[in-house]
Amino acid sequence: MPKAIVIGAGIGGLATAIRLRAKKYDVDVFEANHHPGGKLHAKTVDGFRFDLGPSLFTMPHFVDELFQLHNKNPRDYFNYKRKDVICNYFWEDGTQFSANADEKGFVQEASQCFGESEESIASYLVNGKKKYDLTAPLFLEKSLHKTSTYFSKKTLKAIIQLGRLGVNSSLHQTNQKAFSNQKLVQLFNRYATYNGSSPYLTPGIMSMIPHLEMGFGTFFPKGGMHQITLSLFQLAQEIGVNFKFGEEIKEILVTQGEAHGVRTQENEYSSDCVVSNMDIYPTFRKLLKNEKQPEKTLKQERSSSALIFYWGISKTSPELDLHNILFSEDYETEFKNIFEKKSLHDDPTVYINITSKEEPTDAPKGQENWFVMINAPGNHGQNWNKLKQESRKNIIQKINRCLHTDIEKSIVSEFVLDPVGIETSTSSYKGALYGAASNSKFAAFLRHPNFSNNIKGLYFCGGSVHPGGGIPLCLLSAKIVSDLVP
Ligand code: FAD
Repeated sequence: MPKAIVIGAGIGGLATAIRLRAKKYDVDVFEANHHPGGKLHAKTVDGFRFDLGPSLFTMPHFVDELFQLHNKNPRDYFNYKRKDVICNYFWEDGTQFSANADEKGFVQEASQCFGESEESIASYLVNGKKKYDLTAPLFLEKSLHKTSTYFSKKTLKAIIQLGRLGVNSSLHQTNQKAFSNQKLVQLFNRYATYNGSSPYLTPGIMSMIPHLEMGFGTFFPKGGMHQITLSLFQLAQEIGVNFKFGEEIKEILVTQGEAHGVRTQENEYSSDCVVSNMDIYPTFRKLLKNEKQPEKTLKQERSSSALIFYWGISKTSPELDLHNILFSEDYETEFKNIFEKKSLHDDPTVYINITSKEEPTDAPKGQENWFVMINAPGNHGQNWNKLKQESRKNIIQKINRCLHTDIEKSIVSEFVLDPVGIETSTSSYKGALYGAASNSKFAAFLRHPNFSNNIKGLYFCGGSVHPGGGIPLCLLSAKIVSDLVP
């Protein structure tokens, strides 16, 4: 039986291991931490359970597929429900908007709330769907770096139409063109953050992202996001994937241009192929020090990171749902601070995720578990203690102004995760949430491919390589890798 070694048990590594088992590989996964999941991990403190990283779950069929590949019923392992409300939005002038997951309902309600015509909102969403349908087969489902990808009719169609997809203007310019109401522009601008980019820089093609939420739906996994990790880990164990936790890979062994194993602190292990789920930057800089470095890829701007306060709140807030956003008054300055000044805005956009709305046992009775996140620059050696202190104050003031409350009085439990913590716990270079940023129209082509051009038998999966970050794309990277592996 051929042997595969996977470095890292993030969602991309777990999915790759499961797929390679289906290809009859003997698979060993080495994970530096003592638990699987990478960024998709959880923690319980003072009776409040928190998902530490991802909170938004889209395209669950990519998870289901992994169970079906092994003739298992996904529902025996993992369940989820479709959300009726996508997100509750709040502005300081008192405007509130609850985004209906039903497209027709969304169009009608957004038209009423923002005074924009139903036709212009509907046509924006239809255009987003067209962009998705046209580009998904090229950008998301295949390796962009294999000539065979370009021989399909669908791909050629996408390439011919690239100019019409909005790659020559920013997402913000696309949204300004579509709407006159600045709140609606801001609402659609926020989708740039789904890949850690700035709406003022990322191309207009990203207006396809709302289609992922409205067309495919948003979901909540029973038991929280961490159940995605736990159920895939259970499946991987059942089908015979071997896990070695707490064993960090120090080097990928390469001889005569061929990867043939790995070295840890303790041992050397040989294999027929190696798949790295570790961020591409440290994979090359630390594990492949003596090999040719893909400098252009490694020097790309990184995606944004995050500052997250995990708060146990001693009351309930009926005006909030699972996903909530309190928008900043000056979105452009906020993103300039993040991407140009590498700092934080004093009036940040605040995202509040409350899983106890769906899963009451995630917080003691009558209380709530608040995951309070702001977009942040990557770690460039800033004074994070100072930034955290200032941000905590700014976030509390923002919540108080938007929700007319005095939230600090209700915080009964607290811990914080910053870009340094994200970098330390998962080896993500600079604490980036999604690998490289998509702040240019060529970004999709600059991500590292899922295979090595120079080293035979070496592959890459996860959020820092093609097709991108976020759970669905990490799962697709695993699919591409398993198609590439012989
Ligand atoms: P990672 O999760 O980065 O895991 C890599 C693993 O490799 C880690 O476990 C690490 O310990 C291990 N490793 C690294 N180096 C070594 C080594 N040398 N030896 C052995 N093991 C090693 N995505 C969404 O879809 N929706 C969201 O709402 C969302 N929100 C997010 C919020 C936050 C705060 C964060 C941090 C991320 C968010 N994301 C979201 C992004 C998503 O979490 C990531 O894209 C995805 O989880 C990355 O998975 P991955 O497979 O690339 O690996």
